[in-house]
Amino acid sequence: MNIKGKYLIIISGPSGVGKSSITKQLLLNCKNLDFSISFTTREKRPSETNNDHYSFVSKKEFENLINQNAFLEYEEVHGNYYGTPIKPIEDSIKFNHSVLLDIDVKGAYSVINTNHFDCISFFIRPPSIDTLRERLLNRGDMTSDEIENRTIEAKNEIIKSTYFDHLIVNDSFDECYQDIEKILLGI
Ligand code: 5GP
Repeated sequence: MNIKGKYLIIISGPSGVGKSSITKQLLLNCKNLDFSISFTTREKRPSETNNDHYSFVSKKEFENLINQNAFLEYEEVHGNYYGTPIKPIEDSIKFNHSVLLDIDVKGAYSVINTNHFDCISFFIRPPSIDTLRERLLNRGDMTSDEIENRTIEAKNEIIKSTYFDHLIVNDSFDECYQDIEKILLGI
């Protein structure tokens, strides 16, 4: 599919809700959609490659990027910094492409309010908090404390989800993905 126009497409929602699977599928199916690779200070997981989903940097390097105004937005999420670099987004937009952002709810809020770019924002929510807890458990890469913290944060994020353009429940991945694709095809 081709997206008409040049947008920042924001996919946000609690950890474990399935944002990465949705972004992967969208990037596979949309020819004129680029992924915004965030900078982060968190440890790289064994399954990750640098400069693929994230560019992994030290806290010092991240602070230098803040001082150089390199970020469209940045936030501290679960004790680590995450930031969206502005230059790759400008390059994609110049090239008439849209850009996909997988960012947390606070970051999404700042991007929506910058008014620099046309945004389409999606908040992905789990069918229930219990389902989310179970999905985080099944991922097997978090301690029980981390899972509890992320579950509490998820509840707060769901409360703040009202400022997104679209609220999508990820109960079945296929249905959730098709809902998003339909909306993007209609713009
Ligand atoms: P994880 O460490 O599990 O990959 O991501 C943790 C959270 O950080 C996720 O909710 C993800 O969407 C968010 N995140 C990733 N990159 C960015 C970013 O550049 N800015 C903000 N605000 N959040 C981000």
